[in-house]
Amino acid sequence: MDPFVQHEADEQTTLFYIDSWIREISYVTAGFTSRRGGASKGVFDSLNCALHVQDDADTVISNRTGLALALGMDPTAWTCAEQVHGSRVHVVTSTDRGAGRENRESAIQDTDAIITNLPDVLLTSFYADCVPLFFLDPVNKAVGLAHAGWKGTVQRIASKTVEAMGANYGTRPEQLLTAIGPSIGGCCYEVDQGVITHVQSLGFSDEIGYKTSGTGKYMLDLKIINRELMLQAGILPSHIEVSEWCTGCRTDLFYSHRKENGRTGRMASWIALKEEVMAL
Ligand SMILES: [Zn+2]
Repeated sequence: MDPFVQHEADEQTTLFYIDSWIREISYVTAGFTSRRGGASKGVFDSLNCALHVQDDADTVISNRTGLALALGMDPTAWTCAEQVHGSRVHVVTSTDRGAGRENRESAIQDTDAIITNLPDVLLTSFYADCVPLFFLDPVNKAVGLAHAGWKGTVQRIASKTVEAMGANYGTRPEQLLTAIGPSIGGCCYEVDQGVITHVQSLGFSDEIGYKTSGTGKYMLDLKIINRELMLQAGILPSHIEVSEWCTGCRTDLFYSHRKENGRTGRMASWIALKEEVMAL
């Protein structure tokens, strides 16, 4: 079964929870939204979670509030960054709680990975084909999210997030649980030689994660590349859950930047330590 398990939160709303984590670790919520739910219209139909795509801002904020409540979180806990396809990791502190919830100006700037060990902070990041990475350290009680498109992937954002959790929370790679969420698969993601040259610069011994699809073109699977980077960072194979969901194949469930020619909404990845972590 896919680690991202489809749940119908209500008649309109589909959410994908990392069931195995939630079952085992009572104080964590983690998962990925679908496009189903919320009130956005047209190409954003309907659970668009991002403010940067020219959707109506009030509707997006209302979508976010609905999601937070569905997760049992305070809507003011919603915390996010302005993503730039970079590899900077930001340590989320109490002054960051709520950053970016109501407008882009207040978001954590120039950042694609966010980590925290604070309870009651709902970390979120946004996707339409890029790869959502999830990090959970159940020993030191810390969590993280990283946004990995091809640029973030080849800048090793996966490894940099692991290192930042180590430096800030004492996280050891072998204790870390990770998940790679729904995103565009090798079935749908054609790229040119320029992208593959960057992938090759990672220095893997074999042609991991891509194959030729025609003259000068390749089908690239960023999930496989990120899994490899996580293994290199010292994550145990059994601690890397990889989703099979492809956003390009399933535009009924997901927004796809590729399949919808750039005019579409964004899903959210989320992870949080719930309030009861304090009591443990
Ligand atoms: Zn596909």
